[in-house]
Amino acid sequence: MIPPEFDYTRVSSVDEAISALTDGGEDAKLLAGGHSLVPLMKLRLAAPGLLVDIGGVEELKGVQRSNGSFSIGAMTTHATLQFDEQLGLLSVAASEIADQQVRNRGTIGGSIAHGDPASDLPAVLLAAEAEVVAKGPNGERTIPVAELWQDYLTTSLAPDEVLTEIRVPAFEGYSHGYEKFTRRAEDWAMVGVAALVSVRDGTCEDVRVGLTHMSSTALRASAVEDALRGQPLDAERIAQAAELATEGTEPPADLNASADYKRHLARVLTRRALEKAAGLS
Ligand SMILES: Cc1cc2nc3c(=O)[nH]c(=O)nc-3n(C[C@H](O)[C@H](O)[C@H](O)COP(=O)(O)OP(=O)(O)OC[C@H]3O[C@@H](n4cnc5c(N)ncnc54)[C@H](O)[C@@H]3O)c2cc1C
Repeated sequence: MIPPEFDYTRVSSVDEAISALTDGGEDAKLLAGGHSLVPLMKLRLAAPGLLVDIGGVEELKGVQRSNGSFSIGAMTTHATLQFDEQLGLLSVAASEIADQQVRNRGTIGGSIAHGDPASDLPAVLLAAEAEVVAKGPNGERTIPVAELWQDYLTTSLAPDEVLTEIRVPAFEGYSHGYEKFTRRAEDWAMVGVAALVSVRDGTCEDVRVGLTHMSSTALRASAVEDALRGQPLDAERIAQAAELATEGTEPPADLNASADYKRHLARVLTRRALEKAAGLS
């Protein structure tokens, strides 16, 4: 459990981080909370030659609200999200990540950049149609999260880009439900489901469903959403729609669950998350 040797530098601004990444080449990696990268290094599944520690970059920390959306700094910890109730679904999902020690160190930017399909936050951000801001040597760009996660632990971020900000709509008038199934308390999700619903006069105006660990990346359950949008939101319709939760999924089998069991979980958890969002449970 001892990582290979590496160089280390601590920076105090995003621009310094970009310079250090550029100088370090593809062998350089940002270090945020270290709760995904360091375990990989200890297992010798990652061996960066240089770690660029962004723990002291204050401009990357905190949550701000303006014009109907939240701007969340990439170095904002899961614990900050967990205790910020105005974030709704994102706050609930953050509170389900691992244990308090992990939530005190792990960051939203690290989770997004790591790209693990079992992570809690990507399904929420997909459902919310969030976007991220990345800054590199050639300037800044905005990326919709739907274009960010490309495959298992693979994102569209360049090696010399720093994820700086996550922009999440505030979802006024929406209610939410979050369901995560684990073998033991505080484990990673076997499957997770994030649901956002807006209802007017009993009719579903809008619905967003994000799935965790049902493919090599987080996914939207579009068939479920299409089946409910514009329909009365009652228990029977929700149960019927939830049966479509596995359309377009390719759940990876692992030690905890076969692919079939994950499909079963996705249907059940989608129903429960939607019932919760619709105020039926
Ligand atoms: C015991 C344990 C249990 C866990 N359980 C869960 C769980 O149930 N659910 C869950 O979602 N997560 C879980 N995690 C993961 C945890 O949420 C991590 O903190 C998170 O995935 C990574 O965040 P980090 O800040 O620690 O990133 P780091 O480990 O520091 O970095 C991860 C990767 O992202 C890159 N990176 C970091 N920040 C940036 C940035 N701003 N721009 C570009 N690249 C960046 C790094 O270079 C690295 O490649 C668990 C971790 C542990 C140790």
